[in-house]
Amino acid sequence: MRKFISTFLTLIFTIAFNSLLIAHPEGHYKKSDLPSLHQWNLNCNNQQVIGNFMMQRNDLILIEGIEGKIWSIKLNELDKADKAYANAEIEKINRLNGFNNLQTESKNSNNYFIYLLIFGGLALIFYGLSYYAAQKNLNTNVRLTFSSLSVFAIILFFISCKKDTPNNGNGNGNNVVTTGIPKTSTSFIDSAFTPYKPKISTNWDTTYFYVSSTGIPNHNMMVGISSWQQQVPIPQNYTGTNHWSIPLQPVYATTPMSTKTNFMKGAVAIAVNGIPIFNALNNRGEDSYLIGELDQWGGHCGKGDDYHYHAAPLSLSTTSGLKPIAFALDGFAVYGTKEPDGTNMQTLDTCHGHIYNNGVYHYHGTTNYPYVVGAMKGKVVTDPTTPAPENQILPQAFAHPIRPATSPLRNAVITAFTAPSSSAYNLTYQLGNRFGHVNYNWTTNGVYHFEFIDTAGVTTTANY
Ligand SMILES: [Zn+2]
Ligand SMILES: [Zn+2]
Repeated sequence: MRKFISTFLTLIFTIAFNSLLIAHPEGHYKKSDLPSLHQWNLNCNNQQVIGNFMMQRNDLILIEGIEGKIWSIKLNELDKADKAYANAEIEKINRLNGFNNLQTESKNSNNYFIYLLIFGGLALIFYGLSYYAAQKNLNTNVRLTFSSLSVFAIILFFISCKKDTPNNGNGNGNNVVTTGIPKTSTSFIDSAFTPYKPKISTNWDTTYFYVSSTGIPNHNMMVGISSWQQQVPIPQNYTGTNHWSIPLQPVYATTPMSTKTNFMKGAVAIAVNGIPIFNALNNRGEDSYLIGELDQWGGHCGKGDDYHYHAAPLSLSTTSGLKPIAFALDGFAVYGTKEPDGTNMQTLDTCHGHIYNNGVYHYHGTTNYPYVVGAMKGKVVTDPTTPAPENQILPQAFAHPIRPATSPLRNAVITAFTAPSSSAYNLTYQLGNRFGHVNYNWTTNGVYHFEFIDTAGVTTTANY
């Protein structure tokens, strides 16, 4: 019966979400919807976020603003009134569905089987012993003891099953899943990020490990790109509620989601230097590395002038040694081409990882497709507003564009990228035997000044 209800609810949800997606391909709300959206007040710095409650995951809520923008905010960061409002929304949704419970059901039926095996077995053994005692005309007390133990085992079976019944509606169904995977130690994750501090910063709670960064790596960028969209790196604000979140308790996915057909949008992992790692395929489904879109370090810039990798940032092993070079957004570590003990990399599965000697799963970065993650070994929550293959993992940080997206400059090759100051970059590209330049700088208030010198020597400027 419960199975039937679950299937029915899933069906209703699929229909509901799909109809919304058809109606609003660019997210649910447009600029003109702003006045009707909820205004959330945060505890710190009088910050505000405008959008509607979308979903809850543990102590985070996701808020959807206009044009598909999603914020992940901790419940504790909301002011008192909005915290109460969020809790009411969570309760409303939990009353409407058993969403979290759908995911835990199959695990629980596995547990029932194990309990049946243990306690059923014990009951049978004790019953057999009491039968044996009766046949041999042993002391009545001995017979009674064995009979009682047999009944006791049956009672224990029922108690264990009852304890494992999914809790209804407190929204923490994810915590119920018994994974067998140990919770990742925060000191272990932090030790992987430490070599890149203070350029990046980290903190954590009981659910997530958080990484804040400017999205600018400690190595040079851009040189080597031969298929260039004319985007350039600018610092990003991956801080505050827009930080990167690594789940501390990975949970194996029933069916790992392949990066061939999912996650064409957003990051699949966060490198230990604070740079996101995107799918090896770009958002047109092409191997970014093979078509020359990436620089010597495996990265390039997106439409928000946000620097990110598509290939494995293996150069980080120079600084990181045998420590992880990244963490996937399902919570599993990503190592370089060696095992943590310095031995050669073991055979990888289709997810691009394996279970290590310590019993814990990890991925490896390699020089061939899929480079980092072939499929998400761990369970992830995806954005319900963007259907596959553009289904991005949530929560994750978002880039903030400062200028309209640019178009490809065919046959241009980036030959140099320098930083004349800590708030300026000069990019040089070659087209045929002529050179062009993009020189830009920014103020602390986030005003950007661009100077474009094309291959004919004509200069144009723009401020954003
Ligand atoms: Zn990209
Ligand atoms: Zn390994």
